[in-house]
Amino acid sequence: MKPAFSQSARDILRDRYLWRDENRNPIEKPEEMLRRVATHVAGAERTLPLQYKWADEFYEIMAKLLFMPNSPTLMNAGRPSPHGQLAACFVVGVEDSMDSICEALRKQMLIHKSGGGTGFNFSKLRSEGAKVNSTNGRASGPVSFMGLFDKATETVQQGGMRRGANMGILNIDHPDIRKFIHCKDKDGTITNFNISVGVSDSFMKKAEENPCGDEAALLAEIADSAWRTGDPGIIFLDAINRGNTTPELGELTATNPCGESPLYPNEACNLGSINLSLLVRDGEFDYETLRGVAAVAARFLDDVIEINDYPLPEISQAVKQTRKIGLGVMGWADLLFRLRVPYDSEEALALAENIMRTIRETACETSVELGREKGVPETLAHLGRRNATLTCIAPTGTIALLAGCSSGIEPLFALEHTRVRTQIDGKKVVMKQVNRCYEEARKEGLDEETMKKVFVTSHDISPAAHVRMQGSFQKYTDLAVSKTINLRHECGVKDVIGAYTLAWKEGCKGITIYRDGSKQSQVLYTKEDE
Ligand code: UDP
Repeated sequence: MKPAFSQSARDILRDRYLWRDENRNPIEKPEEMLRRVATHVAGAERTLPLQYKWADEFYEIMAKLLFMPNSPTLMNAGRPSPHGQLAACFVVGVEDSMDSICEALRKQMLIHKSGGGTGFNFSKLRSEGAKVNSTNGRASGPVSFMGLFDKATETVQQGGMRRGANMGILNIDHPDIRKFIHCKDKDGTITNFNISVGVSDSFMKKAEENPCGDEAALLAEIADSAWRTGDPGIIFLDAINRGNTTPELGELTATNPCGESPLYPNEACNLGSINLSLLVRDGEFDYETLRGVAAVAARFLDDVIEINDYPLPEISQAVKQTRKIGLGVMGWADLLFRLRVPYDSEEALALAENIMRTIRETACETSVELGREKGVPETLAHLGRRNATLTCIAPTGTIALLAGCSSGIEPLFALEHTRVRTQIDGKKVVMKQVNRCYEEARKEGLDEETMKKVFVTSHDISPAAHVRMQGSFQKYTDLAVSKTINLRHECGVKDVIGAYTLAWKEGCKGITIYRDGSKQSQVLYTKEDE
């Protein structure tokens, strides 16, 4: 069967995904790209008949746009070594020594070159001005070193396809925390990092219980900065470690760039997302198809680990120890439109939980089967399955465009909008888009009241409803959930603090807020802004 890609998906594929010859002309069609991915990934299966069987199954779920792996898998599957790197998420450890900083920088550059994004927790670095024993000099501090990692990112293109992305984390008890909170205040500084403050439960408790204490003041400072600029985010370190399935390997302290994968240093995670918008049958959610797709997708992601060409041997070793995979969803807002369920309703929260529980359950069963078939890593013997983690919710920034659905679990930003797409040659193309489900409903002549309730966008939804949706998806997500809590321009810092507290109580693993109009450049423009 031919893949169901739309014309705009085909344009994106041509600009950024299809393989090219030396004159930069595409040498494959979208269908051939999916065949390449399916065949290469199925190469991890043990016998030729199994490889054929699974290649067909993998091809089918992608061609029907029911499942998409993360971009590096689409771009690089089948490339000869050392360019066959397929995972999107990496974490690099940084210790308090020049040796370690140089080593981390080297790892970052190699990972970016391979198409992956990197996360760091810089809290072990001594503070700015602290003594350096060997020279009797003064230390530069984590924020200054972060500038170095930022510059390196600027220089390395991800295989010519896109720029690398980073997550920089500093724990709340680090002496340089205030400098860190404000390190992106000025537009144009540290442009290739998302930044997050790592906080503990005890910090959040103190901030809540004593409005006059230091903790409350610090939380307010974080909220104020996020209100102004969108940065920093917060990472709830205790929630992350409560969800850690391998605590004997140590504490988790860092995540990948968009926060959805808490990982150990040198670990990587490959992601894939199921397109929920297509899973409607007779006006109801189609759990049966979901189970089928989730089982094949989980196997696909485990196979990716096997055939992935990791940029460093220590990464390969760390990954094989835990075999983390991140199966998630996209097209959630579109699904709700099709089912006529408002995003900000109890029904939507319950459905989110049910869908994610079904995906997790199915992926877990597959992982147990895969363990019997192919073996369980020693570290995971106590879990009795092949993968330490199964589920994760990614932003799906590009793959949702390929699948033609809304991104991740986000509500729509607008029902009609123009999108600015940058082609490989740097030219910008403006694409006009009206949400398909909205258009369908309008044609159907749905009554005004239902239209108003169902077709809600980011800013119609209260910050609390955004956070609750994140919390509902988090319940059955082993890794974490990528979500932006969108606030209206006129929201106050108090609303931001409220969202932080609710996210913590809901068991979210982190929170990122964005107040409309608070940064100078936005990727999306609503119709009125044209
Ligand atoms: N990522 C990256 N650079 C980018 C976009 C994404 O390194 O320009 C990594 C990052 O770790 C992010 C992850 O890919 O958290 C998943 O992002 P997304 O789901 O948006 O990627 P897609 O597969 O849709 O391209």
